Amino acid sequence: MSAETSVAAETERRDNPRSVGTAISKIEIRMISYPMVGVQGGIDMPGVTTNRTRLAVTIETKDGAKGSYVGGQANSLAQAVACAKAILGMDCFAREEAYTRIRRQLRKEDRMGAGVIDIAMWDLAGQRLNMSVANMLGGSKRAVKAYASTWFGGDGGGLSGPEAYADFAEECYAMGYRAFKMHGWSDGKTARDVAAVRALGRRVGGRMALMHDSACSFITFADALEVGRACDEAGFYWYEDPYSDGGLAAHAHRRLREMIRTPILLGEHVRGLESLATLVLADGTDFVRADPDFDIGITGTMKIARFAEALGLDVELHAPGPAHRHCMAAIRNTNFYELSMVGPSRANFSAPVYACDYSDALDDVSSDGTFPVPSGPGLGVTYDWERIEALTTSRVIVE
Ligand SMILES: [Mg+2]
Repeated sequence: MSAETSVAAETERRDNPRSVGTAISKIEIRMISYPMVGVQGGIDMPGVTTNRTRLAVTIETKDGAKGSYVGGQANSLAQAVACAKAILGMDCFAREEAYTRIRRQLRKEDRMGAGVIDIAMWDLAGQRLNMSVANMLGGSKRAVKAYASTWFGGDGGGLSGPEAYADFAEECYAMGYRAFKMHGWSDGKTARDVAAVRALGRRVGGRMALMHDSACSFITFADALEVGRACDEAGFYWYEDPYSDGGLAAHAHRRLREMIRTPILLGEHVRGLESLATLVLADGTDFVRADPDFDIGITGTMKIARFAEALGLDVELHAPGPAHRHCMAAIRNTNFYELSMVGPSRANFSAPVYACDYSDALDDVSSDGTFPVPSGPGLGVTYDWERIEALTTSRVIVE
């Protein structure tokens, strides 16, 4: 295509997006369900099988190009369908306009269903341009440094006591991990979590960056303070969503930050760029959180990352996935890739949907503690559609 023809094509795309080949003509959203062996109710439990559900999205343009993504939260299916309706007919490259439309469409919701749509749009753009998402974002990292992020503790499971966490951290260290995050017992009690924090500090402190995430399970501010002080003694790297305010109360966490030395990480439950900015500017957190699945995709995540960068802060992405790796490849101010949820029983949180060597399994870490950033076009992964078809429990087609 000559430069002149290319300019004419782009002008036509902008003026009449529905008339050209790059117009979004069909969006298919499936719900898939797959078994996880080795977990029960979020607790590491050998031999027990439970099911996890996720969304699988394919966006197609008028000329037959496709982009896909498997991830997100199954309970946000209705929101994803609303987003699909909002972008039907748009030019497939118009991600910022889609972001604006989606935000208005879901203005009364938490927008958790928007991520899968945005990420599939990035995959589609990368497939068309024969370029990886990381490269489209200007990223050059080839691998991301991971932390092993555990399932919750529980009686009879692989994480049944404080020393079991330290044993498992040693096991992860031997595989190459140099960072480890414990999710504790989530029963609202602090004693075992405090003991596990101390055991980890004693056994792997100085060799691994250690984090604690109560996932909002401690009940009172005093509980949060007690465990935070244990994190201080054990030299923890961060202390995440300590108690039952939901990880939302900026005032309380500013006070907590004055009382403990361990940096606080909040933001996993704060939805959207503006709300996160408000939390950070109220001094509610040290590390900023973002998740392409939760925060309107790669588009929303990169906005949060650049906001954090402007303040000189680091953003830590929540959970693993190909979109997460591509974002991290293009973010300077970030430290670790969250390889969750993992445990001695090896329940794999991630959907078994790949026909390539992409994996978020605990044992597939490189010996230097990293996971590769996929290098192919788009997300750089090949989905196994026969497998996805077999796992599909329902589907919605918007066209
Ligand atoms: Mg968390």
